[in-house]
Amino acid sequence: MTAPRPPLPPLRPLDEALAELLSHARPLADVEAVSTFDADGRVLAQDLVSALQVPPQDNSSMDGYALRCADLAGPSPVLPVSQRIAAGAGGMPLAAGSAARIFTGAPIPAGADAVVMQEDCELLPAEGDELPAIRLHTLPKPGRWIRRAGEDVRRGAVVLARGARLTPASLGLAASIGLDRLQVARRPRVALFSTGDELVMPGEVAPEQMKPGSIYNSNRFFLRALLHRLGCEVSDLGIVPDRRDATLAALQSAAQSHDLILTSGGVSVGEEDHIKPAVQALGRLDLWQIAIKPGKPFAYGRVQDAHFIGLPGNPVSSFVTFLLLVRPFLLKLQGVSQLAPETIALPAHFTWPKADKRQEFLRARRNQAGGLDLFENQSSGVLTSAVWGDGLVNNPSGQTIAHGDLVRFVPFSELLA
Ligand code: AMP
Ligand code: MG
Repeated sequence: MTAPRPPLPPLRPLDEALAELLSHARPLADVEAVSTFDADGRVLAQDLVSALQVPPQDNSSMDGYALRCADLAGPSPVLPVSQRIAAGAGGMPLAAGSAARIFTGAPIPAGADAVVMQEDCELLPAEGDELPAIRLHTLPKPGRWIRRAGEDVRRGAVVLARGARLTPASLGLAASIGLDRLQVARRPRVALFSTGDELVMPGEVAPEQMKPGSIYNSNRFFLRALLHRLGCEVSDLGIVPDRRDATLAALQSAAQSHDLILTSGGVSVGEEDHIKPAVQALGRLDLWQIAIKPGKPFAYGRVQDAHFIGLPGNPVSSFVTFLLLVRPFLLKLQGVSQLAPETIALPAHFTWPKADKRQEFLRARRNQAGGLDLFENQSSGVLTSAVWGDGLVNNPSGQTIAHGDLVRFVPFSELLA
């Protein structure tokens, strides 16, 4: 007689598992300087403090004429044009009782307090020795069409804080305060491998030559792309066979020079699942199995000095657990301060009559009526759902959904950036 199997430990709730996972993610110590041109997506390792005000001086936001409002008398006053100031030039103080021709971005001359648009006045050509003049059709108020010095950035202001992830707009802002190089966290080095003897590579085996039981390795493609989006340096170790010795060897060599070893598949409970015992043999496993659907067989541990994360093999499980768990982990390694994605409350335009014990992440998409439609097949193998959907409905455990219920929606735009 065989002894009864010991009961499996209870699945860890997602919030608890995520908190534990993040507690292991200590930000990488190394910092590097990169050109501002190349810093999109990187994480700032310094506060960006402005040494100047932006704009540096009061300037015109229109093509027109700079003038002093106090010089204007009568319903359509006329002022001689005493100078011309183009963008990039420095003007002279404005002569009393005159206007200065001025262009967008050019500095406001001393003494002027408003700009009139050229469309709001008429140019009177010069006659004899006289200067050309303008006749105004509308009377400006002081401050009109003037962009004030420092209205964008004040001197000494922190325009971006350490821990911010750089975006195209933030690169422009950094450049606007004169920064051509930025201190950023170094890229996490990630070793990626897939497990599964059924896996073949597109390009190596044509569809008509597939042996029975083979499938294409799809996880490798989206995981590599997701890692790149998060600023990682990826060593793609390809497909590791479902054998204990091969798994041990792959983990051991990957641990040498990487911050994280990321695997897909082979982390469940079958005899062909070698990842978990191999990690336990070489290091330790801190987390295994989370109460979410899809994505239960998620694992975290250490192999020597490297972090280890094992993702489930089913493509949607792999994709969803990456977004919910690996993404914040990699961001935290880089020192990112804002880790949680923004969620929005939206009405379900579908029903979900069967509650699950696990917290569910349903592939859904926003419709024109401001609600959410659900992809009809929520199986963890159906990758079409992740392409059709534009986000995930975060459905608590034990919860059914009726048509019109407000549900929590996490857009993929929050998770893929
Ligand atoms: P496993 O977690 O290894 O038991 O795999 C679970 C399911 O996911 C099986 O149907 C596998 O064939 C499939 N699978 C595992 N790895 C991949 C992969 N890299 N690409 C596509 N499907 C996979
Ligand atoms: Mg497998």
